[in-house]
Formats: sequence, C-alpha cells, structure tokens
Amino acid sequence: VSQLAIGVDIGGTNMRAALVDPDGAVVSHARRRVELGGSAARCAAEIVELAQIVAADVGLTAIGGIGVGIPGWTNRLSGELVLAPKFSRLNSRELCDGLREKLPCPVYFDSDPHMATLGELWVGAGRNADNFVMITLGTGIGCGIVIGGQLYTGHHGFAPEFGHMIVGEASEIPCACGVPGCLESLASGPAIGHAGQQAAREGRGQLLVEWSGGNAEAISAETVVACARNGDPTALVILQRAGRLIGAACANVVSLLEPERVVVGGGLSDLGELLLGPIRETMQRQSYLIAQGYACPELVKAQLGDRAGVVGAARLAYNHMD
Ligand SMILES: [Zn+2]
Repeated sequence: VSQLAIGVDIGGTNMRAALVDPDGAVVSHARRRVELGGSAARCAAEIVELAQIVAADVGLTAIGGIGVGIPGWTNRLSGELVLAPKFSRLNSRELCDGLREKLPCPVYFDSDPHMATLGELWVGAGRNADNFVMITLGTGIGCGIVIGGQLYTGHHGFAPEFGHMIVGEASEIPCACGVPGCLESLASGPAIGHAGQQAAREGRGQLLVEWSGGNAEAISAETVVACARNGDPTALVILQRAGRLIGAACANVVSLLEPERVVVGGGLSDLGELLLGPIRETMQRQSYLIAQGYACPELVKAQLGDRAGVVGAARLAYNHMD
C-alpha cells in the first residue's frame, strides 16, 4: 500500500480521527466533542475538518481511503446507512453524501462496535484469535463477533445487537430501542448513573451525593465509578449488579458461540477488575460449558483503549485499498 488510511469514530460523546499506517500504528490523532443535536451537514463538516487535521503532515492527496465508524449500521443488502435510534435525528443519507462529496478519496462506513472489534483483531487483544467476541461498555453497550477471522454481521449487516438482548425486567429509564429489559437500559453508563441517583433517593448514597456537589440528581456513571474506586460500598454494589447482568449476557453468548476469548472495551472497561471481576465470575457460573469444564474462554480487557475505533476504521479502509 503506497497510500495511508484515516479512521474516524463517531461515538456517543467524542468524535475522533486518526491517520494510521499499514501496520496499525497511529501516526496522528485528533478528537472533539460530538454535538448530538447538530445537522448532518455540520457533522460531515466536522469529520472533514478532523480528517484534514490528522492528514496535515502527509496531505489529503496521499490518503487512499477513510473508514468511518458510525453509531448505526450499513445495510449490506441495500447499501444504505442506518443510524441507531438515539442518532436518528441525523439524516444518514445527507451525512454519507456530504462526506463522499467533500473528501477526495473513497469513504467506507460500518458500526462503531464493529470498528473497535476490527481494531482489536488487527493489533489489539484479538490478535491471533480466530473466534472471539468483543463487547464495548460505555454510554451504549455494543459488540462485535469474529468467526474464522472475519466479522460476523448478520443477514442485513445489523448483527450483533448485544446491548439490546433482554436480560431483566423493565428499568425505569427506557432504552431508545423501545424494548423493556434490555441490557443497555440496565447496565450502560447512563443506567449506572441512574442507579446511583436511585440509591441516593433511598438514603443509601451519602458519598455519591457528596461527590456530585450535594445534588442527587447530578449523580452520573462517573460519580459512581469514582466512589467505587474509593471503596464506597453502595457504588460497588451498583457496579457489581451491572457486572452480573453483563456477565449473564456473556454467558448466553458463550453458550451460543463458544468463543476462545471475550474482549471487554469501551470507557467502563477502564474500571478493570472492579467491573471485569463480576462479569467474569457470572459468565463462568452461568455458562454450563465453562462451569463443567468443557470450554474456557478467557475474559480480558481490550488493549487499544479509546483508539480501537479509529484503528479499526482505518483497517476497514485498508481492506478496500489492498
Ligand atoms: Zn435497548
């Protein structure tokens, strides 16, 4: 490959871009906050700006392709871009067309969890694994499945929807997917923040209230995480409950696919064993394949951190450039 690729990641909070070399190393990187209410034209303009920033050293003309991880999917049968429910106000066709018009090279799209999985498969925790599952835990809960070294994407390209598997009773905060009891509504970052607020209302969250400036309604996932790191029992119970729900979903995935590895990424994975511990323990107990010693998939933290998405998106572009 004589030309380089750029990977772009449009997440729930940040938009990132990186110039990535053919070996998967990040040459330059830039990010900014995402404005969810913005128009597709504005979003496209911001992506073009970020691409120009990271390409500044080599010039955009030396870019052979740009991969974009989106909070949505590409319909493989129709070729249309479909955005996830919480981003549905963005006009996907306008976003796609805007980018293809303004960028002087081919642009490829796929879902952000797919991109993170492709990044970890290329140069991260999925290296040398032919069959693995990556889950991403943050504002949303996503997943990527690698079978025989290839991403599994389903008939239309919408799989896997790990975060919207049903794992419990309806939670108080409804999910944008519209189906009560899904994993994302019970164990994502916003769900963890909500559980912290609930604990405070019930008089169990003294430190949580204190660390959110005395305002129980301001308790967020970040507050719960900070308190848990400080050993606060209420925060630890909240994280353990989220971990058990995620672990139960992982046990189902192990029953279904028997992967050799489960890679955990996304912002919440930075908690390390505080969250990975309960996930692993539940996964091992609730999957009979593991409990009875037939299978032993390891559950490990992702290696690329918040750059997995941009690295994977660049890989997507290289896949088309080779
Ligand atoms: Zn849902």
